Amino acid sequence: MTPGLGQELHRWIAELYPIGRSITGNGVRETLGRLGRLLPLEVREVPTGTPVLDWTVPKEWNLRDAWIENSRGERVVDVRRSNLHVVGYSRPVRARLGLAQLKEHLFSEPEHPDWIPYRTTYYADGWGFCLSHRQLESLPDGEYEVCIDATLEPGSLTFGECVLPGATADEILLSAHVCHPALCNDNLSGVVVAAFLGRALAARQRRYTYRLLFIPGTIGSITWLALNEARVARIRHGLVLTCLGDAGRPTYKRSRRGNTEIDQAACHVLASRDGGHEVLDFTPWGYDERQFCSPGFDLPVGCLMRTPHGRFPQYHTSADDLDFVRPEALEDSLEICTAILDVLEHNHTYLNQSPKGEPQLGRRGLYPTTGGRAQGRDELALLWVLNLSDGRHTLLDIAERSRLPMDAVRRAADALVSCDLLREVAPGG
Ligand code: ZN
Repeated sequence: MTPGLGQELHRWIAELYPIGRSITGNGVRETLGRLGRLLPLEVREVPTGTPVLDWTVPKEWNLRDAWIENSRGERVVDVRRSNLHVVGYSRPVRARLGLAQLKEHLFSEPEHPDWIPYRTTYYADGWGFCLSHRQLESLPDGEYEVCIDATLEPGSLTFGECVLPGATADEILLSAHVCHPALCNDNLSGVVVAAFLGRALAARQRRYTYRLLFIPGTIGSITWLALNEARVARIRHGLVLTCLGDAGRPTYKRSRRGNTEIDQAACHVLASRDGGHEVLDFTPWGYDERQFCSPGFDLPVGCLMRTPHGRFPQYHTSADDLDFVRPEALEDSLEICTAILDVLEHNHTYLNQSPKGEPQLGRRGLYPTTGGRAQGRDELALLWVLNLSDGRHTLLDIAERSRLPMDAVRRAADALVSCDLLREVAPGG
């Protein structure tokens, strides 16, 4: 635990919370602009109409104002009170209509009558308002005036990309969606954890090249994949980060292949912590892992979360707010991500340079010279690393087979390298 780190993550969520984001528009730009204080972020703009895989970059949506007034001129719904009040991507509207007509455009969640739901109409030409069921039920008959002062015009899709070169061109992809308005766990938790990871990675030695994406869900990953098809072969490991701030235990969703190194590293880190965790098999729904793991790409990309989307009632409602995300959960999630990346950075494969019989370790100062006592963990780690370093087992394979902590296995490998008993094998070689 770093003093104040959880609070700092939470403060960042609080800063980004009021910004009206969608899959395009100025809310995304403003969000990326602020994240640029944490990490070196390139902002990319892809014009409306650009064909991207089987999709097309949509028109850009910007909302200036939206409200519903009753016949006495009182604003009963006002987007300035909550940016969830407007259905995302609503077309501009100015009209007077009766309650029955108005209700065709109102959305509420009867099971949770005090919460405002989050709804969108990205790829249909509609408009609407979201409000609590209690308020919907209490609207008296009469005439209402509605205003959605928005533009839905050719513009661009905006996303943020941060590339941190490493010793190799092999890449680790980290991706978070930035398209939700005032929602904290589903969206902002992943955004700030990814940004803090980027800040920490930028300041350290890197074996891998890191690519962090801050993209609108679905259309953003599809756009990135379409523009970078030639580059995807460099992605060795990837994580989609989302729902990382609730009080639930951590959950890892495997990549489509299910047994890649990122799957192994994430499961290993979660299993070596207290407090429980869950591992889910891949499913073709959820977040942008759907696109990264589509069969034409089939990238080794998993998804890290706490409580998965749809399993907490606050999901996609106004109750996914600043109280629902906890500083200690955000910090714990950041620590898990850091630990997973640390395993990947150090997960080398070696070849034992003296594989016939055990090399004499005592002579090299690696082994206690007094015989007869019980085997210590460090000695066991040396023997395991020597035995399994046949060029086909990574250090993580050795940690799992020996049931020794990765740290002990890494220390043993470092000691054996320093006395020339191990030589690193290039990945895939
Ligand atoms: Zn969502």
